[in-house]
Amino acid sequence: MFTIGCHLSASKGYLAMAKQAVELGGNTFQFFTRNPRGGTAKPIDEQDVAAFRAYAAEHGIRTILAHAPYTLNACAADARVMDFCLMTMKDDLERMEATPGQLYNFHPGSHVQQGIPTGIEKIAGTLNQILWPEMTTTVLLETMAGKGSEVGSRFEELREIIDRTELSDKLGVCLDTCHVHDGGYDIVNDLDGVLTRFDNVIGLSRLRAVHINDSKTPFNSHKDRHEKIGLGSIGTQAFARIINHPALRDLPFYLETPNELDGYAAEIALLKELRT
Ligand code: FE
Ligand code: FE
Ligand code: ZN
Repeated sequence: MFTIGCHLSASKGYLAMAKQAVELGGNTFQFFTRNPRGGTAKPIDEQDVAAFRAYAAEHGIRTILAHAPYTLNACAADARVMDFCLMTMKDDLERMEATPGQLYNFHPGSHVQQGIPTGIEKIAGTLNQILWPEMTTTVLLETMAGKGSEVGSRFEELREIIDRTELSDKLGVCLDTCHVHDGGYDIVNDLDGVLTRFDNVIGLSRLRAVHINDSKTPFNSHKDRHEKIGLGSIGTQAFARIINHPALRDLPFYLETPNELDGYAAEIALLKELRT
């Protein structure tokens, strides 16, 4: 089964997102757990979640992906910034137990002059404080473009974070096509090679989701500027290979392209056409 969807606004709740996903031709969706800049989350509406679960079961929505606010920094030098990150992620993960067994994606962090090794240690430290044995959510480290002092643009860095996390069975990876291409992994000309590298360093069993975005900037540019599918430096043919690759085809794919809803619908239709 092809699992495809896009990023949606969470403002109207879970049922509304699921209906919108289906309207757009998809069968999954991504959403921010709260305002992407941080702030407090709306309380979970049990009725909405119950209606969502019934609707999802009826419409073949099996996986959804929650995205942490991108302003969190799990390896910040400032203790207050770290505390805010811990509090927010812990609260998100507790709330996610209302929809058991789903995915929670976060940007590992920016080390801001502390250096990559310290960044890695702090990120694992954060995870060691917020994961608990009975949780059912899988927490995904997103592959980053390597903009500024971002940690997680090398597969080796993600591997080290996983290795230093006690409850590492709760962890997976979300591969962002724009980010890895910007980070210098040539998914256009050597997709097999990149996936073999991923397998050797992290293990493909950790790969749980794909962010499917074209890139406005060239290969290895470390910029992180998403483009519509087919209009950037990755290109339509590379996406056809990505969504059909044996190592990727059973994963859920999420568009985070610069689009309004009709643009997402068109991209979902295009990707369904490219699916073999
Ligand atoms: Fe992201
Ligand atoms: Fe992404
Ligand atoms: Zn991005």
